[in-house]
Amino acid sequence: MDQTLLASLRVVALPMKTKFRGIQTREVALIQGEFGWGEFSPFLEYDDAESAPWLASAIEAATQPKPELYRAEVSVNGTIPALNDVQDLERIINSFPGVKTFKVKVGSDVSQDLQRLDLIRSIRPDAVIRIDVNGLWSVDEAEIFLNSVGEIEYVEQPCATIEELRELKKRVDVKIVGDEVLRKAKDPFNVDLSGAINFLMLKVHPLGGIKRAHKLAEHHNLPVVVSSALESAVGINYGLILAASFQDMNFDCGLGTGSLMAKNVADLPIVDGKITIADVVPNFDGLDVSADRYEWWKNRIMRTSELLN
Ligand SMILES: [Mg+2]
Repeated sequence: MDQTLLASLRVVALPMKTKFRGIQTREVALIQGEFGWGEFSPFLEYDDAESAPWLASAIEAATQPKPELYRAEVSVNGTIPALNDVQDLERIINSFPGVKTFKVKVGSDVSQDLQRLDLIRSIRPDAVIRIDVNGLWSVDEAEIFLNSVGEIEYVEQPCATIEELRELKKRVDVKIVGDEVLRKAKDPFNVDLSGAINFLMLKVHPLGGIKRAHKLAEHHNLPVVVSSALESAVGINYGLILAASFQDMNFDCGLGTGSLMAKNVADLPIVDGKITIADVVPNFDGLDVSADRYEWWKNRIMRTSELLN
């Protein structure tokens, strides 16, 4: 990896408003190159092999020109963590101004999940609801839930494996989005998604950058929706660029997760349900990690860069 890129490294800790994915503080590493800032922020438990595409994406963002864009702003969904306190839900829903679509985390408790969806529908009766299961259900569990959930736009990764998704797709009419099935694959080009999903979830960092995400979309030949991985404003902006680089984008994208953070390196406001792509210049004031966390991230980057060629 280029030493000047490594020398530009900053690592920040962003406090969350609400615990999400078990995380209260999101640590992200940022590098600056000729074409701006790139983000490297695999979750802390990911090993170096799983982190490698994230680093490829960060390097691409910092060192490559941006693609042609078809729009300057991107419609986003609100992302709702798995919680059922009405006041918390209202506060979170209201932190996505003008957003009409909500992606709700479900999968760990059927009655709590259904209650959460009821509460959201009572707070926002006109909302479009999509659910994300992160592969937690068996085919039978998915079938029963999807038959009792009422109208939803789609279900994201209801079951873990391609075989289960294919079986489920035969049993239900609900549209299925594949996320982990691509993102967690050792080689996402070498998975056969035929008959298993309707739409492909693209996340720019875990999939190795904008060029590779486009190649994956072409390879699998499915409509796409773009989402994020709880990145800082730098990484979210790169996701917005990916979303805007597709001529056809028929879904609200999961790029509104900045609303879950109490502090960020830049402001990418949601206005009327949309975020405008920006030239993000991060403000690091008060966000830098301790010296030992900085060393941890720097070592992680140096190890991970050995895996790129
Ligand atoms: Mg997902």
